Amino acid sequence: MPLTRKCPLCSSPTGSILHTQQFIIEDDNPLDPHISLVACDHCHFTFSDSRSIQKDYNNYYARISSYDNEELGFGNALHTWDKDRLQEVVNLFADKDLNLNILDIGSATGGLLQLFEEKGFKNLFGLDPSDRCIDKITSKASSIKAFQGNLSDDLGLIFGEKKFDLIILSHVLEHVFDINSALKNLVKILNKNGLIYVEVPDSSRYKDLMHAPFHYFSLEHINHFTDLSLKTLLGLHGLKVLQCSKKTFYISETEQYPAIYGLFGLDQEFQDFLAYIELSSQPENHEVLNQLINNNIPVAIWGAGMQTMRLLGDDKFKKLDIRYLVDSDKNKQGRKIGNLFVQSPENLKYFQGTILISSPSYHQQITQQIRNAHYTNDVILLNV
Ligand SMILES: [Zn+2]
Repeated sequence: MPLTRKCPLCSSPTGSILHTQQFIIEDDNPLDPHISLVACDHCHFTFSDSRSIQKDYNNYYARISSYDNEELGFGNALHTWDKDRLQEVVNLFADKDLNLNILDIGSATGGLLQLFEEKGFKNLFGLDPSDRCIDKITSKASSIKAFQGNLSDDLGLIFGEKKFDLIILSHVLEHVFDINSALKNLVKILNKNGLIYVEVPDSSRYKDLMHAPFHYFSLEHINHFTDLSLKTLLGLHGLKVLQCSKKTFYISETEQYPAIYGLFGLDQEFQDFLAYIELSSQPENHEVLNQLINNNIPVAIWGAGMQTMRLLGDDKFKKLDIRYLVDSDKNKQGRKIGNLFVQSPENLKYFQGTILISSPSYHQQITQQIRNAHYTNDVILLNV
């Protein structure tokens, strides 16, 4: 059935409802109190569908959530059970350089960062949507720098040129509405050799650690990960698994909780592939095309290959006044591409507009052909 919230993993608009829940909530709570637990029809990711959007969650975590309450809060290292959980994370990095730039996302009042500080780490940063949490960190005598912000924000506006060697997402991704934008933003501020530590509840073991019926389905936990969906999500953002495992920890004196945790690093070959797309998206000849369009100059395209087919589908290209499409290949002549019939270059004999050479492989031969035919038109080599 159609979903209100598209699948946060694959963006599919349809899913199947597994369970629905209606909450009665505080008057000033911006979240939709009706949630449907759904499985994506396409990738089978399980998540909450509701009318809440990113803005509502940002508002909720800034104003309503209680992570600043150190007595009740989770992630403040005040209780032994919470401190043990966080210490386990710090211990994973015990042999690392103490000068690493470390960023804890959803840092609450800084419990995890304080344990890193106790280990001797010097460059510690926290990001949290709640001003109250940030105030608590900055009021403590420590070197930790804390910033108010959301993962949906442009993190470059918060951190400038700074890149991080370790980004920690401990019990964060299950709360995030737009997880793809969040990871895209994080990859931008990760150093080339940086690491991302992710820890999320393990939905495959909710049944093994039953607290109460439907306890794991809250208004806050809107994404339910398995080992596979977590790795798929990170993989989609060019992050490869360096280590991934399951754990169980205490969330009170007696209650245990299931989680998956993993360490991910940039898959350089995937990043290089993305870099090719970015590089290709900055065409040098757009200015040339603008001039042809603005001055209503008729053009002939020479070359009916893949580049031309791609360009004919481009919105900017569609605005050109294209009079001819020519190619020396007799197999192509007479065939129709879009609204244009491929013709022989000889048909340009009386054409007075500009010839655009659109062939990365044969442009030298085409240039020679134009010279041999003594055409006097302006000629532009397309590199778009
Ligand atoms: Zn999906």
